[in-house]
Amino acid sequence: MCVIRLPNEVRHILFFNGLLSLLFPLNCLICHSGLGSDNRKYLCPTCWGKIKLIEESVCSKCGRHSFLTVCSSCQGERYFFARARAAGVYEGVLRECIHFFKYRKKAYLAHPLGELLIDGMSSDEDLREADFLVPVPLDGRRFREREFNQAHLLAQVVSRDFKIPISSRNLRRVRSAPPQTQLSRKEREKNVKGLFEVRNREKYEGRKILLIDDVFTTGATVNECARVLKGAGAEEVSVLTVARGE
Ligand SMILES: [Zn+2]
Ligand SMILES: [Zn+2]
Repeated sequence: MCVIRLPNEVRHILFFNGLLSLLFPLNCLICHSGLGSDNRKYLCPTCWGKIKLIEESVCSKCGRHSFLTVCSSCQGERYFFARARAAGVYEGVLRECIHFFKYRKKAYLAHPLGELLIDGMSSDEDLREADFLVPVPLDGRRFREREFNQAHLLAQVVSRDFKIPISSRNLRRVRSAPPQTQLSRKEREKNVKGLFEVRNREKYEGRKILLIDDVFTTGATVNECARVLKGAGAEEVSVLTVARGE
């Protein structure tokens, strides 16, 4: 049997790289190609480049890509938030990333996904005026399963960059809601009614609040949060998510 004896330095490097790869994935999460030294985003530049950003011509209400000031699905809708903005379209690579983040407990993805939120806020002065970042509260059962609230991890990344404090305990979930993936927009609105409450109303009196979440689907959940926050005296509520439907 042939045994190759490696010099000590090489063995040390291999050992160190092995440790590193345990701590940080050295391959792209999506296509598995090697990441080299720039593994901060956990995705290779090709995969990262496939994320469809929503940068201009957006509906002033819901943030969907639209050439109309208010898109057709927002006309006649009653929102309690002033504006919702999303960094990218919920499809392909971004959708996969959010699934890894939420359902496969890859909490470290809060950093690259949070950077998308930071980019979105950098170009939007209204969002940066917030007094508090409020992560959308997670259902207690889901929190136990997941062990973290993805919205809270994202808010931490944004908070560090813009020095806006997080308020994560004042808006809380009062009860669980049945899963709403199969529900229509109207059914979702009914499903989320009365889900949240504000503990200390004085804290939000006359304040601007930026709600943070991972995905904006129909907006029913964030709209209900905004309704409760406005009811507690908040001057204005905006919404920022990593992704939304096209
Ligand atoms: Zn890749
Ligand atoms: Zn709209």
